[in-house]
Amino acid sequence: MNIAIIGGGPAGFAAAIKASNNKNHVVILEKNSDALKKLLLTGSGKCNYWNINQSINKYHSSYENIANIINLNNLKLVEDFWNDLGIIPIIKNGYFYPYSEKSSSIKSALIKKALELGVIIRCNYDITDIKFKDNKFLVKAQDYEEEFDRVIIATGSLAYPKTGSTGFGYDVARRFNHNIINVNPSLVQLKTNASIKSSWAGIRTNVIVSHIEDDKICKEEQGEIQLTDYGVSGICVFNLSRDISIGLQNKRKEKISINFVPWCQSNFKDFLDKSCVKHND
Ligand SMILES: Cc1cc2nc3c(=O)[nH]c(=O)nc-3n(C[C@H](O)[C@H](O)[C@H](O)COP(=O)(O)OP(=O)(O)OC[C@H]3O[C@@H](n4cnc5c(N)ncnc54)[C@H](O)[C@@H]3O)c2cc1C
Repeated sequence: MNIAIIGGGPAGFAAAIKASNNKNHVVILEKNSDALKKLLLTGSGKCNYWNINQSINKYHSSYENIANIINLNNLKLVEDFWNDLGIIPIIKNGYFYPYSEKSSSIKSALIKKALELGVIIRCNYDITDIKFKDNKFLVKAQDYEEEFDRVIIATGSLAYPKTGSTGFGYDVARRFNHNIINVNPSLVQLKTNASIKSSWAGIRTNVIVSHIEDDKICKEEQGEIQLTDYGVSGICVFNLSRDISIGLQNKRKEKISINFVPWCQSNFKDFLDKSCVKHND
């Protein structure tokens, strides 16, 4: 069987490695000049590829049957997949990184395994159209078309479009009448409407950030915030961003409030008054 995999990211490579056997001829078609571009950026260039604490509670999705995907059997399959690639991990706080602490090691391992299995990797193939005719899929790019028995779409989400994932897969899925569950940004920084003073950009400090929806506090996160010229960033902000983006999609009134003095147990004004008295003494 001839199988085309559109997109040479981690999902495309995992699909190619699983799909290749003596009976299948598997081709990855990647639009960039090299595969796995986004993977190189992951985990700050180290690639946090696995985690000791894997459970369904860690996955946030509106997809109702997520338990069919994230369950003990499947998690074991993913773990075996990484082990079969021959990656030696270094584990920090339960997070798995390759021992080299370089995402390029994961890239090399995926490419090596795919090539060993006879997968063909074609870069600079920006697929523009897929048609189904006479029981075959006709896959097209500029100056290229080829027929396949099966097509796997692994073109990524809309996250970080500079790496090549520009949402092509959603268009194809829609054209072939697949359901698409609602997608929204998560683990992202927040752009604010309030005008930000450029003097605050670049500051990092420990804060409590509160997410306020329709004037009610929903959630609070403590940690290091990064103040930027467009708004706010940092893990504590990332952790609130999914709920805020869902709220914005649902036309809710979204606000954040930042407590810059989380160490202050009492009312900050009382604290200042007391400190001033002490100082004057
Ligand atoms: C900054 C950052 C840090 C991250 N850190 C981590 C981490 O530490 N651990 C972790 O597990 N996850 C991390 N992630 C998430 C992780 O990168 C993604 O979940 C993962 O890359 C998704 O893989 P994918 O193969 O589905 O999509 P992608 O990696 O986006 O790959 C899709 C590929 O399809 C190609 N493509 C798109 N359209 C076409 C087309 N029309 N024709 C041909 N090719 C096409 C793209 O060029 C791209 O190469 C991080 C993400 C970012 C942005």
